[in-house]
Amino acid sequence: MEAEIIAVGTELLLGDILNTNAQFLSRELAALGISVHYQTVVGDNAERLENVVHRARQRSDLLIFSGGLGPTEDDLTKQTVAKAYGDELRFDEEELKKIQGFFRAWGRTMPENNRRQAYVPVNGRKIENHNGTAPGMIFEDTREKGKYAVLLPGPPKELQPMFLQTVRPWLASMSDSVLYSLTLRVMGIGESHLQEKIGHLLENQNPTAALYAKTSEVVIRITAKAKDLQSAKDLCSEYADRFYKILGDFIYTQTEDSLEETVVHILKEKGKSVATAESCTGGLLSARITAVPGSSEVFEYGACTYANHVKEQVLHVKHETLEQYGAVSPQVAAEMAEGVRRVSGADFGVGITGIAGPGGGTPEKPVGLVYVAAACADTTYVQKLVITGRTREIVRLSSTQRALDMIRRLALQLEQPGCRMFPAGTPADFPQDVQIKDV
Ligand code: AMP
Ligand code: MG
Repeated sequence: MEAEIIAVGTELLLGDILNTNAQFLSRELAALGISVHYQTVVGDNAERLENVVHRARQRSDLLIFSGGLGPTEDDLTKQTVAKAYGDELRFDEEELKKIQGFFRAWGRTMPENNRRQAYVPVNGRKIENHNGTAPGMIFEDTREKGKYAVLLPGPPKELQPMFLQTVRPWLASMSDSVLYSLTLRVMGIGESHLQEKIGHLLENQNPTAALYAKTSEVVIRITAKAKDLQSAKDLCSEYADRFYKILGDFIYTQTEDSLEETVVHILKEKGKSVATAESCTGGLLSARITAVPGSSEVFEYGACTYANHVKEQVLHVKHETLEQYGAVSPQVAAEMAEGVRRVSGADFGVGITGIAGPGGGTPEKPVGLVYVAAACADTTYVQKLVITGRTREIVRLSSTQRALDMIRRLALQLEQPGCRMFPAGTPADFPQDVQIKDV
């Protein structure tokens, strides 16, 4: 099956937003074994949209549209596609009730315009949208069976679940084999290093495996095709074992859970708690942990200690340590971690201090230099990160990512690779460099 993706929206052409829907859909279709031959972006303009649809329909079996399902005059996708595919639209009372329900839940009255969103195909089918008012829809060409157009709303929070819940299974059902994907999330090994270690496993045909680099972690997606679901699952988990043999506990989950979700679950399971003391990350670590439902069971205290005198007063970082080594030092990170642990009574304490940039760097302490420390009752671990050539935002995010991984490793009593380890309370001398080259 040959497919193409058509993103509709003038805001995309103006560069106001990035076409992330095309990326998402392309990846998903590739994983389903469907070739994508074209991606198009077209503005909210009837004539140009009609031209695009006309040409795409001739050359491809499957068109996937994103956007243009809104309530306003310039949202034209469904009318245009219905016409091209020989279908019509009908008013759907049930859909109207759902839309009115959304407005009631938001405490607003529905503008008359939104009635437009209750029009659905006469012959085609609608796709339920649990996160917004615009239903999606699938048209089949009435003149040429087997040619389809799938329409999804623009907001990724609506488009993605609709694709995964409805469109993906439908596409998979059209093939006589079943597809299943499994995701491995890897933390602590950069993409190029990972490529060296597991590159040979990425060349396989069935299952296929692909790497996706995210900020500070890499996702490995394994996809298998088989005659039934169980066989596809078995193929995936057998193949996953080969990754586990090489990567071991660098794989932190086999689910869709983020690192903070994984950490909160592990802490709960182990009955352990954590407290954080942050300087350059300004509370980002505590924000990420507390964003996970149920984190109150495992999170004791988050201190955002920017100024040195606060590090002394709140965390009991020693004045001499700050004087002798400076605020951005392994010694201060360690004392922050130990201090916040003591003050809060948590099982684990974390300290982060560094230079997030873009200003404030020196030759000895460049932008991107960050020390992350994690303390338990008897041992403190410190990691030095040099996150070069990155924005302030990425330095901050990567630092919290490392900190979360150190908490995970403490809770699971795993080794702390790349960390300097010493008994609690010992001043840290710190010879070892850990360079993060490719976050
Ligand atoms: P629409 O369905 O065209 O009304 O789009 C509504 C909103 O969805 C836009 O304002 C964007 O924020 C978002 N959006 C639309 N198209 C895309 C796209 N291709 N990629 C990412 N976001 C999009
Ligand atoms: Mg639009």
